[in-house]
This record gives sequence, structure tokens and C-alpha cells, in this order.
Amino acid sequence: GATIGILGGGQLGRMLSVAAARLGYRTHIYEPAANPPAGHVADRVTTAPYEDLDALAAFAEAVDVVTYEFENIPASALDALEAHRPIHPNRRALTISQDRLIEKAFLRDLGLQTAPFAAVDDAEDLAEALAEIGCPAILKTRRLGYDGKGQARLNGPEDADTALAAMAGAPSILEGFVNFSREVSVIAARSATGEVAAFDPGENIHEGGILRTTTVPAQLTNAERTDAVLLAGKVLNALHYVGVMGVELFVTDAGLVVNEIAPRVHNSGHWTQNGCAVDQFEQHIRAVAGWPLGDGSRHADVVMENLIGDDIDRIPDLAREANTAIHLYGKAEARPGRKMGHVNRIVTKG
Ligand code: ATP
Ligand code: MG
Ligand code: MG
Repeated sequence: GATIGILGGGQLGRMLSVAAARLGYRTHIYEPAANPPAGHVADRVTTAPYEDLDALAAFAEAVDVVTYEFENIPASALDALEAHRPIHPNRRALTISQDRLIEKAFLRDLGLQTAPFAAVDDAEDLAEALAEIGCPAILKTRRLGYDGKGQARLNGPEDADTALAAMAGAPSILEGFVNFSREVSVIAARSATGEVAAFDPGENIHEGGILRTTTVPAQLTNAERTDAVLLAGKVLNALHYVGVMGVELFVTDAGLVVNEIAPRVHNSGHWTQNGCAVDQFEQHIRAVAGWPLGDGSRHADVVMENLIGDDIDRIPDLAREANTAIHLYGKAEARPGRKMGHVNRIVTKG
């Protein structure tokens, strides 16, 4: 049978592997860290760094198609892989989502609304950006941030020095603070033949920069719900994208503002595992393997709750709840802020 190569062995790689296995594929994980969550369910694991171009070439030759569960793959590694096998989603989607400045410029050029933004490399840039954008604002590193890491809030110009120091010299972006009423995300997919589908938007609550819950349906007007889905389709089509993408949105009085895009399955799409016939993981595998997209229509109201750190101690209680599906990632050690699993509570049926 065919083999799907997955870069990254975290929980997303694990759940992608399970979905691939259900569709009859073998999976091969490439992961620098030892004992990754996906390693327990994949057929094969290569443990090597992204600097090991020989290991990458051997991995690519052992699989039929390459996909990934996180976006921070070095360009040199992608070159080494792409010399042997196709990568889905494509390089352009990765390049754009790896850098918040390039990402925001791309979205703005598509005609979508973003937070006001400016590049910041030093104190002078920051002073200029603050004069233009005003406060409150958020300074973020352009690359490598996740779960709210690499960000500093500025309530006034007096916070400039501390915020800049927090970036530790990394190229950064200043974003004006968006006054949103809620945060939602759209998980959308595009197949190799250009078919596009989107799951119902979910409403997201963050705590300490980390996603806490996703609720479907989101509280949106019909117009907002339609806009969210059309906007996601526009992004996918512009990129000739193949696979699943997560699009994070702010809901404002002036319409939807795009926060960021993730060229992969997304934590806020985990509810689809118990709310749809075909979930985001199967949808992604279908797309990258050249299948038609599946039926992702929502058949239940669901609240997804992440189990972070010590939340894992609640498993005995959660296991007794009716209509609650438990998804654990098999991580040995529960550290603060570490995503250990999630539950999907089916609130109502149909
Ligand atoms: P993720 O784990 O989703 O990749 P991240 O580290 O890339 O997170 P962002 O999504 O940029 O970070 O920001 C995290 C959260 O901070 C957002 O979900 C939102 O609640 C808040 N936030 C970020 N940027 C802005 C902004 N410009 N205006 C208002 N709130 C913001
Ligand atoms: Mg992000
Ligand atoms: Mg985010």
C-alpha cells in the first residue's frame, strides 16, 4: 500500500496517522525528538534533525507523498524533500505562514481585513510603528511563535523598551489591537482537483495564550458565517492549496478580521472528530492522497475542551461523563501548558 510521510510527531501527526490508517495507508513520521506521540500509532518513525539532509532524502524516498503537522520546517529541509516527492500543502503556503509579516501582507493583498501592522527590527522602527498604529498594540516575533509565545502587549509608548527586549533581537511585527467581540476559526479543505469545503466555524476561547475551548455552532450571524467560509475559500484558492487549513478570525463590528492562517490541521478543528462524518484529519489525508473531499457537515453541537497540564488528572471523572469523547495523546509527562489531550462533549444531537 501507499505510504504517507508526515513531518512532525506531535498529537496532530498522531491523529493524522490514525486517519491515514483508517483509509488503508501506511504512515512514516519524521521527528527530531525521541519518543513522539505519533510514534506509537505510525508504521515507521525516522528520528533525525531537520538539518540531516541525507535522512530527509531517505525519508522522502520511502514515502509516496509528504505532508506536515507544523509549519516551521526550514527551507533547506523542504528543498531536500521536494527533490524526491511532492509536498502538500505546497511551499508557498508554508513560506507565507512561517512569517507573520509576509502572512499579513498576503492577506491584505487578497483584499481581506487584518490588524494594522508594521515591521519592527529596532527601537526606531518601533517608535515609528507606534506613532502610526497607536496603542494598545502587540509586538510579536515574525517567526516561530505559538500558543501566544514571543508576544508582548503595549498599553502605551512607555512599554516600548520592555516589549522590544522581550523579542530578544528577533525580527518582529507590531500589530494594532483588534477590538473583537469573539474569536472564531474556519477549518477548510481543498482537494487536488480544486474542490473546496469548509467545516462550520467554531468559536474559540483562549486562556493564557493557549486555546481552551472551541464551541460549535459559533455565535455568528448568517452573513458572518457565510463570509467566514467564503474568505477561507479565497485563501485556499489563491494558494492552489491541497489539504486542510485553519483560519483564525476576529469578529468585529466592521466585519471579520483575519488573525493568522495555519497550513495544517488545527486544534480548533478537533471537534470535527465527534461532530462530523468525516473529520479534519481524514479530510486532510483525503486531500493530500488525491481523494475527493468527504462530507464534513456538522451533525451535532460540540464543545471541545483541551486538557492542559494537570487537567489530565480529571480523566477518571471525564470518563464517567455521558456524551463525552476522550482523546489522549499518550504523553508521559504532564508539564504546565502542555497539551495532553482533549475532550469533545456532544451537547445536543442533530
Ligand atoms: P497559536 O497557538 O494560535 O498559533 P500564536 O502564538 O500564533 O497562537 P496569535 O494567534 O497571533 O498567537 O495570538 C494569540 C491570541 O492573542 C489570539 O488568539 C488573540 O486572542 C490574541 N491576539 C493576537 N493578536 C491580536 C491582535 N492584533 N488584536 C487582538 N488580540 C490579538
Ligand atoms: Mg499561530
Ligand atoms: Mg493563533
